[in-house]
Amino acid sequence: MRIGVFVCQCGTNIAATVATRRVVEAALSMRDVFHGESIQYTCSDPGQRAIIDAIQQKNLTRVVLAACSPRMHETTFRRAIAQAGMNPFMLEMVNIREQCSWIHSDIDTATEKAIDLVRKGVARVRRQTPLHAGSVPVTRRALVIGGGVAGIQAALDIADAGVPVTLVEKSPTLGGNMARLDKTFPTLDCSSCILTPRMVEVKQHENIDLMVSSEIENVRGYIGNFEVDIRRKATCVIEEKCTGCMICEQKCPSRAPDDFNAGVGESKAISVAFPQAVPLVAALRKEYCRLFLKGRCSVCKKVCPAGAIDYEQEDRFVTERFGAIVAATGFEQFDWKKAYPSFGGGLYPDVITSLEYERMLSASGPTGGHIRRPSDGAEPKHIVFISCVGSRDESVGRPACCGVGCMYQAKQAILTKEHIPDSQSYVFYLDVRAGGKGYEEFVRRATREFGTIYVRGRVGKVYPRNGKLICMGTDTLAGHQVEVEADLVVLAAGLNAAGAAAGLARKLNISYDMYGFFSEGHPKLKPVETNTGGVFLAGACQGPKDIPASVAQAGAAAAKVVSLLSRAELETSPMVAEVNQMKCTGCFKCREVCPYGAIEEQELRGGRRVAHVIGSLCQGCGLCNVACPPAVIPLKGYTDNQLIAEVVEVLREPEPASSAGASAKAVEVAE
Ligand code: FAD
Ligand code: SF4
Repeated sequence: MRIGVFVCQCGTNIAATVATRRVVEAALSMRDVFHGESIQYTCSDPGQRAIIDAIQQKNLTRVVLAACSPRMHETTFRRAIAQAGMNPFMLEMVNIREQCSWIHSDIDTATEKAIDLVRKGVARVRRQTPLHAGSVPVTRRALVIGGGVAGIQAALDIADAGVPVTLVEKSPTLGGNMARLDKTFPTLDCSSCILTPRMVEVKQHENIDLMVSSEIENVRGYIGNFEVDIRRKATCVIEEKCTGCMICEQKCPSRAPDDFNAGVGESKAISVAFPQAVPLVAALRKEYCRLFLKGRCSVCKKVCPAGAIDYEQEDRFVTERFGAIVAATGFEQFDWKKAYPSFGGGLYPDVITSLEYERMLSASGPTGGHIRRPSDGAEPKHIVFISCVGSRDESVGRPACCGVGCMYQAKQAILTKEHIPDSQSYVFYLDVRAGGKGYEEFVRRATREFGTIYVRGRVGKVYPRNGKLICMGTDTLAGHQVEVEADLVVLAAGLNAAGAAAGLARKLNISYDMYGFFSEGHPKLKPVETNTGGVFLAGACQGPKDIPASVAQAGAAAAKVVSLLSRAELETSPMVAEVNQMKCTGCFKCREVCPYGAIEEQELRGGRRVAHVIGSLCQGCGLCNVACPPAVIPLKGYTDNQLIAEVVEVLREPEPASSAGASAKAVEVAE
């Protein structure tokens, strides 16, 4: 056995805190280590070349690489080792960057820890055996979850590349939040005019299967082969028959909240979301319907000219297979009412959110595009926009920026002036974040051309006085308290991931942050991937984003999906569980915990039933390994032997470095 130890300096990332030369010297005194080398950047081309040369010249049979997290470069190094003719799994990566140099400042301590980590790596690789990757066929079909602008873009891009797509949207129509917007910054083009044609394209695309009023129930499987149960919610309307004439909505006697209009105005128990909805079909909400609540009505069935109403409809489940999944479930505005009692906590009808205001501005909205005070229907003349409500506010435990508030407030102030020329808008802001192309100029227009008054500071309190709302705050530039009298107050409420995002994250086996936004694989290098292979992210479900950024990310996710699904087969990791059937007691605890359905029953000669791992399904998560009472399902590449050897090595007092031993070997320390 001949082990080579390569210690990466990672420029100064590692070398500034870890004395890499000392680590190499220590490694050379370890049993079976025949080569040690410190390299400036092991992942660089010359770095990889040096590793290949050393393997070939010194006949190395195993490699320990002390560098960054294996998540970054393990595949790169495995490829390099394979090029040198060695089995790529005879590599052990030791993380001396994230887990050592970056978290320590004292060079001696960090170097000692790095040596311990290398010792443990050497102990483990010594017990490694060659492994061989398998392959599985790929299902050439993609699933996009969420039909906002990001989901629409991702679905169209994937479908245009010839890959079949299923788009699952939980509401009865495509469009998401963008369909609610009136005009969009920074160009002020009409939101519907640019979005509706894309929605229609989705509906008509031969490669897209659109499922509205649907949600993901269960996800099984793994990259290239997901099996997904989709719940098709009962809407009591037969989609194929409904023509969207809206007669049912006009005649329905049951009032219901207007979800599409963000609660501004009212809707009916049966309704079409909005006139440009795609698909243009009605949906009935049983929780508001007189028939379901009181047992009498059926008006919609009587008046429907298409015979599209079916009260007996029940939720249906369909199961489909997909090779890749794009999550594009977007955002919702944070419920500010509990967190801000100082703004009335919802008691004052004339304190509304920016999304409600957006619906008021829209010609197709509940007020026909007329800005009206909810309290009395009067046209407001003084409008105060308050930014960062539930964003950048540690006092309510929400430190993050909402990303779009500064820009849409400038937009809403401009549109307000266009709607009511003799109005005056005020924006209370912390600092204006206008980082996109043309954004700074746009905010400037709001002040210079449209006369919006920007007041730097937080509003501490909003309270009623003589039929007006008083916004009391501090002007931090002037250094004094200000009171602005408002007819209408519009809050830029912070953003959260769409409700139930956490539940979906669990089904997809991906992680999420404190606002429910899904976590990307790596903030710089994997911005559209997740830590689960084959699951990608698009749009505001990953974090607050404007439309251009959502569309760009959707395009990137689609490109990843198309590239993945262009392969007929995917290589599978050989680091999978394997049952020692001679010792298996047949309790099948392993099958109960396996999230991938990778464990089946097998009958041995003599009739004894034992567990068997389906290698192509196993993802090497190790749950069976832990659950097995007699401990007879080792995980290849992570055997008990290897792990115990590592622990023993860390606990053991290190032998003093033997310089004689080191120099007896073929030593090469290139720094
Ligand atoms: P969304 O638009 O939120 O769409 C997500 C979709 O997924 C929805 O249809 C939702 O029903 C669906 N969904 C959610 N959960 C599930 C689930 N579990 N299963 C199935 N489907 C699900 N940006 C601009 O560039 N210009 C502007 O002028 C502008 N104005 C704005 C004004 C306001 C008041 C706000 C709040 C935002 C504004 N934005 C603007 C930002 C813009 O709205 C977002 O960038 C955009 O909507 C993000 O698109 P998305 O598809 O990622 O998410
Ligand atoms: Fe409305 Fe009556 Fe139809 Fe229910 S049954 S949706 S109340 S019209």
